[in-house]
Amino acid sequence: MTEILKSITEELPKVISDAVFEGANIVLYTNNKEFFKTGESKIKEIVDKIKKRIELRADKSILASEDETEKTIRGVVPEEAEITSIIFDIQRSSVVIEAKKPGLVIGKQGSLLNDIKKSTMWSPTVQRSPAIPSKITEKIRSVLYANNNYRRKFLNDIGKKIYQEWTSEKMDIWVRITCLGGGRQVGRSCFLLQTPNSKVLLDCGINPAIAEGPEKFPYLNVPEIGDLNSIDAVILSHAHLDHSGLIPYLYKMGYRGPLYLTAPTRDVAALLALDLIDVAYKKAASPLFKSEDIKEMVKHSICLDFGEVTDITKDFRITLYNAGHVLGSSEVHINIGNGLHNLVYTGDMKYLKTRLLDPAINYFPRVETLIIESTYGSKNDILPPLHEAEEKFIELAKQVIERKGKILLPELGLGHAQETVLRVEEAVRTGKLPKIPVYLEGMIWDINAIHTAYPDFLSSSVRNQVFQDNNPFISDVLKRVGSSAERNEVLEGGPCIIIATSGMLVGGASLEYFKNLADSPNNLIIFECYQAVGSLGRQVQEGAKEIFLGQEFGAEKINVKMQVETLSGLSAHSGRNELMQYVSRMNPRPKKIIINHGEASKCLDLASSLYRSQNVETNVPKNLETIRLK
Ligand SMILES: [Zn+2]
Repeated sequence: MTEILKSITEELPKVISDAVFEGANIVLYTNNKEFFKTGESKIKEIVDKIKKRIELRADKSILASEDETEKTIRGVVPEEAEITSIIFDIQRSSVVIEAKKPGLVIGKQGSLLNDIKKSTMWSPTVQRSPAIPSKITEKIRSVLYANNNYRRKFLNDIGKKIYQEWTSEKMDIWVRITCLGGGRQVGRSCFLLQTPNSKVLLDCGINPAIAEGPEKFPYLNVPEIGDLNSIDAVILSHAHLDHSGLIPYLYKMGYRGPLYLTAPTRDVAALLALDLIDVAYKKAASPLFKSEDIKEMVKHSICLDFGEVTDITKDFRITLYNAGHVLGSSEVHINIGNGLHNLVYTGDMKYLKTRLLDPAINYFPRVETLIIESTYGSKNDILPPLHEAEEKFIELAKQVIERKGKILLPELGLGHAQETVLRVEEAVRTGKLPKIPVYLEGMIWDINAIHTAYPDFLSSSVRNQVFQDNNPFISDVLKRVGSSAERNEVLEGGPCIIIATSGMLVGGASLEYFKNLADSPNNLIIFECYQAVGSLGRQVQEGAKEIFLGQEFGAEKINVKMQVETLSGLSAHSGRNELMQYVSRMNPRPKKIIINHGEASKCLDLASSLYRSQNVETNVPKNLETIRLK
């Protein structure tokens, strides 16, 4: 047993039967019923002393039987909570109650859970059953339940590693960060953060705009990495493929360390990774990884809530904050060496309230270095106010509906699509637009379902709608398109709005619709999300009248006669003004700013403006460049 566990158990003679780690958390098991019910204050004393989270659970030997416990739960919880399942995890003496209304299971200040705990000795937790059944969320939950034993050992091993030679002193170490992808470009985001004790990857994405070749992936073959298992942890900011796409591949190549992220990011990242396999098979290419590798990723995921502070290595302590970009998207705050240096990585972020999400957080306990994205970093990237773009959309849509055309909105499946869904749903429901069908292709529907499982990560307004049984994602304005037959019906039908992936027309349903809708001037395509250099979407956006599709898409020539519009105010990224404001209003002020995730000119433009206006050191690393932070 590690020192820290030994010293804790010594303080609690006789009542503790086992002490283990669950990641950075400490779990004590007691075989004494009285202590389990009344030991809170004693545990709190120890928590105050060692400043680590401790959870007290009952030893297997004193648990009520599963049948009895289920009876108790169903007796205590009111029927309106709509319990969908009760799952026992005997290894951890815990029981998961899945319900449609989790609040009614918890009771006032946790009173019902407490009753269940005291009468059965099981430690109950509550999970929300999504309003739209989500296959992926169900599958992930079942993978985790099926691997309880493995998880227990895995989490204990992580704790052992973190607490090896554990100290609360400030450490005298060096800190450096290497840009392995996403330097002066959008795509394949990946940083390696290193100290003498720890190696951590921040994101590990692919470049979705590039079909193949080494430029699609970050530089993982650098000598600093070497053996993949020398990496202590991977932190994922959000599920978009340019941040997450290569993570299952790490597991394929034998990485077995933890992946830190939010629960919705885990679910959506798994879904997008599965889709990547699908896309590869459709192109008769061999996929980068298999579904088994995605399963390994899920098994090794450690989910954090916003604001939850956790040690991930001996000298890294992380906290995730809302980034306002997509469901579950996080800014990562890393406290290195017990306060020696503090780093904030924004990932992709939006410093503005949208329908879907609250704005990115820009106040932190401490910050010395800020890594900020610059997708819209140049002086010209001033985004019009949200309401202007929304009004423009209504105006354009009305004209098309009048001339009996169809509107195609190519969207990134995650984030942008949901913002659009909320906007369009409201416009049709409230009569701002005539009652035309709004079609959602399968992938977007599936990601909407994950949104309904995690309303706590949504903006306060949408969260309230969900809690008041007014869930916009299950509105009858929205219709799911699940097959190519249904797609043909949409194409043959009357005026409608179609929301489909991919966002840059690089395959997927949006490309299929585009092929069919392009030759009529009655139709309209609106680009609302970022179009990467080299993508088909970028060509169309820039006014190409003839498009040549590659071999994998049938080697066709397409004449573009449809109306083409771009609405930039609706981006899930901060515009130039928001980026500048984010930094100028940041508290505390960073001493060094590293700019990434933008085309070279935009990164450099943002860097020089920040340097001049904030009087702060700025860096715009190229891929493979290393910056010493301490
Ligand atoms: Zn993103």
